[in-house]
Amino acid sequence: MHELGLLTQMAETVTRAANENNIDHVCGIVLEVGEASGALPYTFEEYFPMIKEDYPVLRDASLRLLSIKSRALCAGCNAVYDLMKNEGACPRCGEKAKTVLGGTDVIIKQILY
Ligand SMILES: [Zn+2]
Repeated sequence: MHELGLLTQMAETVTRAANENNIDHVCGIVLEVGEASGALPYTFEEYFPMIKEDYPVLRDASLRLLSIKSRALCAGCNAVYDLMKNEGACPRCGEKAKTVLGGTDVIIKQILY
């Protein structure tokens, strides 16, 4: 139920932003979902209609999901690689030590009024 919590948080953030701007109607939300965030995009789609019922400002809002690739910088050879595809180990040298460069979060990219 990780996604449900994230969606609730998102709905509250969007409601607050709308209130601050005197907007009573949000048309859409664009969410960036990092591949390494552990969140499953289809679950967001499944829960969104349920969340909408509790937040009037989102009544007619659509949800758009952008999948963000997770990348890592290898500590061994400085290669940048796809974290999920390579299961956390550098495909060039096999090193597991790395700096994750993104794709670990779910963030609100855009709110459409
Ligand atoms: Zn490497």
